[in-house]
Amino acid sequence: MMMKLNTDIKYVKGVGGKRAELLNRLDVRTVGDLLYFFPRAYEDWSKITKIRDAVQGETCCVKAFVDRKPTAKMIRKGMILYKTDVTDGTAVMQITIFNSEYAASKLREGEEFLFFGKVSGGFITKEMSAPLIEKAEGGERIRPVYRQTEGLSSAVIEKLVRSAYEAAQDELTERLSDSLCEKYVLCGVRDAIWNIHFPQNADMLGHARRRLVFEELLILRLGLTGLKNKSRATTELMLKKDYSEEFFGSLPFNPTNAQRKATAQAVKDMSGAVSMNRLLQGDVGSGKTAVAAALVYSAAKNGMQSAVMAPTEVLAAQHCKTMEAFFCGTDVSFMLMTGSTKAAEKRDIKGRLESGEIDLIIGTHALIQDDVRFKNLGFVVTDEQHRFGVRQRAILGCKGENPHTLVMSATPIPRTLALMIYGDLDISVLDELPPGRTPVKTFAITGDKRVRVYNYIKKHLDQGLQGYIVCPLVEEGETELAAAQEYAQGLSAGAFMGYRVGLLHGRMKGADKERVMSDFAAGAIQLLVSTTVIEVGVDVANAVIMLIENAERFGLSQLHQLRGRIGRGKDASTCILLSDAQNAEAKRRLEIMTQTTDGFKIADEDLKLRGPGDFFGSRQHGLPELKIADMLDDSQILREAADAAKGVIEGDPALSMPENAGLKRAVNALFAASPQGSGVRN
Ligand code: ADP
Ligand code: MG
Repeated sequence: MMMKLNTDIKYVKGVGGKRAELLNRLDVRTVGDLLYFFPRAYEDWSKITKIRDAVQGETCCVKAFVDRKPTAKMIRKGMILYKTDVTDGTAVMQITIFNSEYAASKLREGEEFLFFGKVSGGFITKEMSAPLIEKAEGGERIRPVYRQTEGLSSAVIEKLVRSAYEAAQDELTERLSDSLCEKYVLCGVRDAIWNIHFPQNADMLGHARRRLVFEELLILRLGLTGLKNKSRATTELMLKKDYSEEFFGSLPFNPTNAQRKATAQAVKDMSGAVSMNRLLQGDVGSGKTAVAAALVYSAAKNGMQSAVMAPTEVLAAQHCKTMEAFFCGTDVSFMLMTGSTKAAEKRDIKGRLESGEIDLIIGTHALIQDDVRFKNLGFVVTDEQHRFGVRQRAILGCKGENPHTLVMSATPIPRTLALMIYGDLDISVLDELPPGRTPVKTFAITGDKRVRVYNYIKKHLDQGLQGYIVCPLVEEGETELAAAQEYAQGLSAGAFMGYRVGLLHGRMKGADKERVMSDFAAGAIQLLVSTTVIEVGVDVANAVIMLIENAERFGLSQLHQLRGRIGRGKDASTCILLSDAQNAEAKRRLEIMTQTTDGFKIADEDLKLRGPGDFFGSRQHGLPELKIADMLDDSQILREAADAAKGVIEGDPALSMPENAGLKRAVNALFAASPQGSGVRN
């Protein structure tokens, strides 16, 4: 039966209701999903190792004849071992099968099989325990290994993929034009899909993978380029004169060289006829806001309005406070507008924005609502913190006549990833912390030292200092929330009895959050129990200690971000990562945290360990998850795809030519699938 790519998976031969449910668990819902459900690894059964050459401890594939029928031996109740000898003419190898009478019965004397597994045994005899076994005939190939779920093995998925391919291969239509395939040496889509699942050899797998990675990156790049071209356009909004030195002169501190350099780069952009599109990267506390303020100041002196958009109300409020400190002695007028601003006040603010009375508006998403108008919006700052979608950023950009934009990013993004997310957006880096900061000391410990840690925290509280305890909770969940409340109550009634313990979580109303944060800032709360919302919390220089519970559940970049809440004052700060995780990777990750406070290093390690999909949570970028491409390993293909995207856009900006129709559909579908999505316009 022929099928469409969007046919429900349950109609594929061999699937049915129960397996369909299991497949859904793997996010496979349609025939197309299954064909694009790529193996996570491969087993090479095409390379046969002679028994004589098989190396102890290594996994290999042996092709051998069964010498004798397996013999059964009960070693204890419920455990039967089947043993037999096999030979390939070079040597003999002993095969052990556990408990499976069925597998043992297949091994008939004199027949030839493939045995895939790890070689063990002593100096003289070679052994393989519980190998995978297949008939020799037709078995010599590379086998796909799929992500599995309980009740659905990789081998079953393999069969289902085969029948899906048979039923729907004609529906796999080519998205890449002939000229692209020729120029970049790419195989056709049908070959690619077949060979990514069932490659005959490593070469064909390589070709298939290259083609699919290229296509994925090309489509992503085309989508992002569509957005970028829109924001990068000629503008009348030019700085006639630079006032940033005047601004820096008014500050109580000297800007760092990095701050001066980044400001100069941005001023140069903003003085030109093409609107600025710049990313300002800098570790927590590196002073990004001061750079943004210098630019806001210059813009205001040139008669242009600015907008600063933050991902949360708490952070918007913090920016407002920071700006207040910066602008109090100047004539720059500014206001804060967030979701919890009262309707009447909002109306008032909107009026003043439209009349040009306000130079700077600071806020959350409320700023991108349709009825917010500006008189002369010239400069837009988004404090990224990886919470914004590409789309939201673009919308605010539409409010003015191609205003200059600056994206502030606290977690340093590895270059390759930045290239993909932001296109060829210009980048300034604040790679220097203001003087006088002591780096945070970090320790990773296990739960048995909990009491000691509590005492250590109390010692600091007794000295009038403050601290955080972070719980890894999903902010939305009701039950988790109850758990946070319980945890905080447990502490204030138990280990921290007599201390002032507060609780902050994502489900609190803006005003309540605000109150807790300001109580903490004022010292009325000594110990703040919090979910990850404090990731973007206010600066409290007196907070010098942070305990992170179940630290293994956080990404490295997130731990780094959290840790950035302390070490903001003159006192030495300590971050304690509590985890009972046993697995080596989790331990390695926490170890990295204890070894460096360099955000770039941490970001790179994070990307290596977790892959870009998980890097910050791809949803937060508005970036769709990558199915096959790897930002680090595929950086060469990434460059080629970027080059190809440029060529395609130059020749056909709206992707309206027939040969690009497939690409256009793919680009639109890709972004439509993500909640913050956006596609190529027109
Ligand atoms: P970021 O946004 O990069 O995390 P901020 O701009 O919020 O950093 O700066 C952190 C703190 O350091 C603020 O209190 C700010 O006033 C202060 N600061 C910024 N630049 C300097 C500097 N060059 N010297 C001393 N303090 C600075
Ligand atoms: Mg900041």
